[in-house]
Amino acid sequence: MLVRLLYASRAVKAFDQEELAAILRKSRTHNPEAGITGVLCFCFAQGIFMQVLEGGRGAVNKLYNQIATDPRHTQVELLRYDEIDERAFAGWSMGQVDMARLNPALLLKYSERSALDPYSVSGRVSMALFDELVATASILRQP
Ligand code: FAD
Repeated sequence: MLVRLLYASRAVKAFDQEELAAILRKSRTHNPEAGITGVLCFCFAQGIFMQVLEGGRGAVNKLYNQIATDPRHTQVELLRYDEIDERAFAGWSMGQVDMARLNPALLLKYSERSALDPYSVSGRVSMALFDELVATASILRQP
């Protein structure tokens, strides 16, 4: 049984590229063993993470519970949890959305202001925005 989970969280302090790269390295080491795929998006300007995790229900639940207790972020909020027939991000143990390529108009399309704020929109809207981020900003395979 495959599931897809989307959550948002806030970094507890200003993050730099190296700290983000450390999370991605850890993900790319651990996730293949657990059959997890997904994409991580971090907005440096606002310190907001959005991450999709896909895989077996038990493995995704376990990893999400582990991530939720990570002291590097707070306000971890589950936005969507769906049973799925197939993965959308099968090619990535953990891809990274290249926010530098993001068109601000995309944020405005889904929010009241041109800013990433998954806390103020529905899970359905967050998932639609995430899908467009993946489609329009490029996905970096390596940090
Ligand atoms: P270690 O890496 O040795 O960590 C042990 C403990 O120390 C953990 O509780 C960890 O949270 C904490 N820790 C580690 N580094 C730091 C640090 N620099 N500052 C403060 N505390 C620290 N892990 C995955 O495996 N897959 C993912 O997809 C994934 N996505 C993540 C997304 C986000 C936004 C964040 C913040 C973390 C993510 N992690 C992910 C990391 C995850 O939360 C755990 O830290 C990691 O899985 C634990 O790895 P480990 O068992 O090798 O322990």
